[in-house]
Amino acid sequence: MKYFNPEAAKEFIYLCARAGAVPDNKIPSERMSYVEPAPITDKENPFEAMMSRFHEAAMKLGLDEETYNVLKSPTKQVIVSLPITMDDGSKRVFEGYRVIHSNILGPSKGGIRYDPHVNLDEVKALAAWMTWKCAVVDIPYGGAKGGIACNPREMSAGEIERLTRAYTSAMIDIFGPDRDIPAPDMGTGPREMAWLMDEYSKTQGMTVNAVVTGKPLVLGGSLGRTEATGRGVMVTALTAMEKMKINPYKATCAVQGFGNVGSWAARLLAERGLIVQAISDISAAYYNEKGIDIEAAVQHAQKNKGSLQGFTGAEKINRDDILTLPVDVLVPAATEDVITASNAKQIKARLIVEGANGPTSSKADSIINEKGIMVVPDILANAGGVTVSYFEWVQNRLGYKWDAERVNRRSDRIMKEAFNNVYQTAQKYNVSMRIAAYMVAIDKVAKTYQYRGGY
Ligand code: GLU
Repeated sequence: MKYFNPEAAKEFIYLCARAGAVPDNKIPSERMSYVEPAPITDKENPFEAMMSRFHEAAMKLGLDEETYNVLKSPTKQVIVSLPITMDDGSKRVFEGYRVIHSNILGPSKGGIRYDPHVNLDEVKALAAWMTWKCAVVDIPYGGAKGGIACNPREMSAGEIERLTRAYTSAMIDIFGPDRDIPAPDMGTGPREMAWLMDEYSKTQGMTVNAVVTGKPLVLGGSLGRTEATGRGVMVTALTAMEKMKINPYKATCAVQGFGNVGSWAARLLAERGLIVQAISDISAAYYNEKGIDIEAAVQHAQKNKGSLQGFTGAEKINRDDILTLPVDVLVPAATEDVITASNAKQIKARLIVEGANGPTSSKADSIINEKGIMVVPDILANAGGVTVSYFEWVQNRLGYKWDAERVNRRSDRIMKEAFNNVYQTAQKYNVSMRIAAYMVAIDKVAKTYQYRGGY
């Protein structure tokens, strides 16, 4: 087969070994001799987790070697050092990243993460996931991601503002409304996007609001953007439940993560009749068999610096137990690598809808598939955010504002169509929803690349 050159096969088997996955049986056995056993740990490198799914989907598609190599390699990786004066007068140097995974479908798109654990491999994986995400929902963007290794919870607003402006200035040749368009991610929101837009605009001598999405409404943000990711989780969850003949009014649900995505997903699922029995965040987890009053939980978190700690509307449970509760629907909406080979066997939900990026390790995939659990994978389930980001960018470029009804109607339609497309692909090729989503995405980017060509 054209694809199997020794290097690629060697790399894949290495990744499989690291991930603990069984290499595809189509790999000729003589290639196996290239492999040196790698240490296998439960924690998974997110880029390797992405690559093992990418590889499996590329194999199913019979992707040629040249396109495979182009699609797997990030186009550009930028690392900057950002010296910032802290409030106490000291100087600290922060490391900032921006990875453009692909600009084949159009300008690259993806959020900026402020978190102490940000590192290049994570940003690379998140950038690639953006490429597949935009392709799955068929919007004309490539994928990118940025991040700064910092702890915004321990920084003042002034320090975060200086850091955001310094990062924007360092990335001035990368960002641009037709080049690379950032957005919020973990640890950032409309406030940071406003500073970014302002800093970028200053260098251009004019207001350029289409350079970033997820802005405050008054600066050209879109109605519906704040809740868009959670809304997409709700829409894909309900579409999956319809296929599985689960009645939402009788279904129970647990949501891990109570930031923007988790809290909106919980709220919107509860509004559609689901009994949200459990919620959690980094501080605590809460359970109420009869269903948690999500509005009350949101109010509590708002008054408590975003934290659920001390919520009185439910019983406190162990944080890790949220993933293995006997509920119908599980929404991991916190961070990467939380459903692993160690806890996947204990999962009792019939449906998992991935609000977070990369919440399931590739080792856990096969366990979940064997259990017959339906998974709406991250690159589909949480694509509502970037879909409405796209609408925001379109509105900025039109110099026009859509009403909320138009935003929601269009994004719901895109999410349902994307779900059905992935579902049909899964049936046609007899693969999981995750591999089907990658297949849909890779096929689209590959076809576009073949038209555009390389050097
Ligand atoms: N950070 C979000 C994501 O992971 C949104 C990206 C965007 O809107 O560009 O999908």
